[in-house]
Amino acid sequence: MEMFDVYPLYPIEPVKALGSKLWDKNGAEYLDLYGGHAVISIGHSHPTYVKNVTEQLNKIGFYSNAVQNSLQGELALKLGQISGYYDYNLFLCSTGAEANENALKLASFHTGRKKIIAVENAFHGRTSGAVAATHNPKIIAPYNADHEVEFVPLNDCEALELAFNDEVAGFIIEPIQGVAGLFEATSQFLQKAQDLCEQHDAVFILDEVQSGAGRTGKFFAHQYANIRPDIITLAKGMGNGFPVASVLINPKLEPWHGMLGTTFGGNHLACAAGLSVLEVLAEEGLMKNATEMGAYIVEQLGDINAVKEIRGKGLMVGAAFDFPVAELRKKLLFEHHIFTGSAADKQTLRLLPSLAVTQEELDQFFDALKKEL
Ligand code: PLP
Repeated sequence: MEMFDVYPLYPIEPVKALGSKLWDKNGAEYLDLYGGHAVISIGHSHPTYVKNVTEQLNKIGFYSNAVQNSLQGELALKLGQISGYYDYNLFLCSTGAEANENALKLASFHTGRKKIIAVENAFHGRTSGAVAATHNPKIIAPYNADHEVEFVPLNDCEALELAFNDEVAGFIIEPIQGVAGLFEATSQFLQKAQDLCEQHDAVFILDEVQSGAGRTGKFFAHQYANIRPDIITLAKGMGNGFPVASVLINPKLEPWHGMLGTTFGGNHLACAAGLSVLEVLAEEGLMKNATEMGAYIVEQLGDINAVKEIRGKGLMVGAAFDFPVAELRKKLLFEHHIFTGSAADKQTLRLLPSLAVTQEELDQFFDALKKEL
């Protein structure tokens, strides 16, 4: 059997990693400023993470959600403390798309409606058919099997108001559009969305799959705006490489047995990974580092004429050029051994380093970037 060929691959195979560094199978060293789409939050193979996950594996790695697992309660408690959402409830799953599916399903269960409003160029995941093809009225009601989605332009308050009515189950938005090119929702737009959701009894959903887990300097990026969404989804950086995802749910949305479910979500290893990330984030002050290193990146990019626009917050940064960045990224990778990312607009260089990245490591990138420009 061969792999189903859906990913264009660089001819590099990392076999070892530590912090922001990777080594390929020939022993060559690389600087990772992308972390596999914002997954690496506390740094590759962090010793606390490796120790805790290994110890957990030596005890028990997995048993189903049919039995008690106190690690889940511990994770819910710590997640509440670090995010400030003490009173919210937690549903654990494994991927960002799964977290968003569950958020949309909850919005429909809560309202009995199926219309969703989303933002143009948004990216919320790659699932669709499984819910539609599940025929079990106890867990998939007609109103959450086939959502009708209306898209509005980002930050267009008027269009948003026009799209809203009493048929709307929920509104979903990324506070910073990761895949599209680091375009940020304004506080005004987010507040307007919250008001409209309240007015129409719809569910306000923030997709923090990429922007959460401290990446922007606050635990959630939406915490820069004065809002409190009904549901927040989180994945990538929460597990630092282990598939862990969360749905944080306002207690006004009431659960019942069988309402949501998943095989792998909240397993023992996933909880150990999630707990280790939260422990290291707090102990090493990584959100503060994200703010400081983010400001340093913005300052340095600001001195480069070829950079036309700088977008994002903290360590979720986009540098927009007036040319496609594919060649530049290849040069950074093959000539300077630095991993970076791009965005759907093709002209934005996307930086999503570990939240523990150092100024010295960033200087290595800026030296290389200036040379290539
Ligand atoms: N939401 C956002 C904002 C994302 O960036 C992504 C992945 O890039 C997803 C959802 C989907 O996450 P996953 O690939 O874990 O399903």
